[in-house]
Amino acid sequence: MSHVIRRRFLAATLGVGLASGCGDGGGAGSNGDGFAVTGTGGVGAGGVGATGVGGSPQSAASGVGGDGSGIGGASTSSTTGTGGGPAVSGAGGTSQGGTGDGGVGAGGSAGTGAVGASAGGTGATGGGDGSGGSAGTGSAGTGNGGTGNGGTGNAGTGNAGTGNAGTGGSGGYDYWPNPDAPANSDLWIRDHHDSIRVMRPRVLVLDVQRVGQPIATVTQRIIDAIAEGSRYHGYSNAGAPVFLEYEIEKIVDLRDPTAQYPSFWPPGPNFDVGELFTSAFAPRYGFENPDQPGSYLTMCQLFERGIVHELWIAAEAGVRAVYENQSRMQRYDANLNKISGSFQECTNGCFNDPQNRVNCSVSVRMQEVNKGRGPGCFTHAAGHALENMWDAIPYIRTNAHRFFYNGMQQRYGIPYNRLYDIDCFLGQAVGDRKCSFPSPTTLQYNATTGQSMTFTEFGQGCGDIHHKPNIYGSGVTSAQACEHYGLRDGANGRDQTTLYSQAGSLADTKMAEYESRFPDCDGGWQTYIRQSMPGYDNPAFAEDGTPMKNWWPFLFY
Ligand SMILES: [Zn+2]
Repeated sequence: MSHVIRRRFLAATLGVGLASGCGDGGGAGSNGDGFAVTGTGGVGAGGVGATGVGGSPQSAASGVGGDGSGIGGASTSSTTGTGGGPAVSGAGGTSQGGTGDGGVGAGGSAGTGAVGASAGGTGATGGGDGSGGSAGTGSAGTGNGGTGNGGTGNAGTGNAGTGNAGTGGSGGYDYWPNPDAPANSDLWIRDHHDSIRVMRPRVLVLDVQRVGQPIATVTQRIIDAIAEGSRYHGYSNAGAPVFLEYEIEKIVDLRDPTAQYPSFWPPGPNFDVGELFTSAFAPRYGFENPDQPGSYLTMCQLFERGIVHELWIAAEAGVRAVYENQSRMQRYDANLNKISGSFQECTNGCFNDPQNRVNCSVSVRMQEVNKGRGPGCFTHAAGHALENMWDAIPYIRTNAHRFFYNGMQQRYGIPYNRLYDIDCFLGQAVGDRKCSFPSPTTLQYNATTGQSMTFTEFGQGCGDIHHKPNIYGSGVTSAQACEHYGLRDGANGRDQTTLYSQAGSLADTKMAEYESRFPDCDGGWQTYIRQSMPGYDNPAFAEDGTPMKNWWPFLFY
């Protein structure tokens, strides 16, 4: 039930583009040579047609560092006025860059605060003859990870005008949601993709299921399983941070006290999910509309306002719940721009919405919870949506198909696109198995119907939700690139492979451990494959050789 908005402003993430200019250009041809003694830069009077050099800042013993606010020469021709030099360190105080004015004045750059706050950013470039200064780039303060933006320098007024202070930079949030980006599909997520350190999606849980474990117990186990799976290479890096910290916004108890299921929640098999998005249903969730007291926010409004980011439904499996994961995801193009009005509506089969009432402006993630099953069934079900994310996100199509053994026809020239397309699966009786591995990198498929094949480049992927690296589990040995995916650390620039299943191997050991912690629906494998997916701070390469993006933020694009 908790709803904790965390506003964590990092002290030095505000890049203050302060730059105070003063004075004006004067004399002829002399250089300014002011000195900052107690934190104020000198004023250098430049000359017409000459190069004016701003004040040379000095280090302040304490307090405010040298402000190299030298004033460039007033330029009336093609010469250049140079602003104050970089401020030197302000011990214990703040330091700020100077301001360049005059012809084309270059602003001084900010120094580094030895202790305490450091004014991020190079100073604004001063206005030259009325042209606007350009914004500086903020540098992070000592000991802080944020990125601040420098201020925007304003135009000088006339010759030797005043270079005004820039506006302070925007806060450099490294988490989502945040006050700048509360909701799914906010372009902030795309724009800050590579600097997001943690995501804390909030979940609305609808409990319609009288049977099974207590809903709070179930959801906590699920949150723990997702968290563990989001630790990139957590199986080999004990310090790997959790990237997905789900939070329960609210659990809405919709159980009928007498009947197994409430009468207002009709059975499926294809439950009309659109019912949940009506204003008639909104009061059941109990989020009063602050703009219209007495009325309630609809499901779309909850998503669009960023109050919730995911909907979990605990109901009768396959009858009243959405099936596994059935979301509606904003589609993007290859440049990660939104394709207007285009949504992926089949993340794992398609939800039933005959009246098109699931029509929010942002991505809506909907996930089945089964209170009678273990947390592995949740990560399994949600995993199918990971496999299918390529439909909405071309980046995933390009970079995750090899991982999931998707697109194999094109990549390898074999007759099957996915492992799902061949008749080999976990749990298949030994006598019925049509797949074998004559060598760890060769998959032999002897089809009963359809085409048999010998796939000799097996092992450069990891697996999929239904297929472990060796398809069958223990007793079969195959190559796999889960632990080295994208690292290009093997022969010929390919990914190194390891073997599965091999008693005592990292994969076997950790999968068994995870299975005991997050059991059911092959939960050990679900956790292992998730930790193998390129996540936060991964050193992998994308197909085009650039650093691989963290795949997790795409969930909320
Ligand atoms: Zn499945």
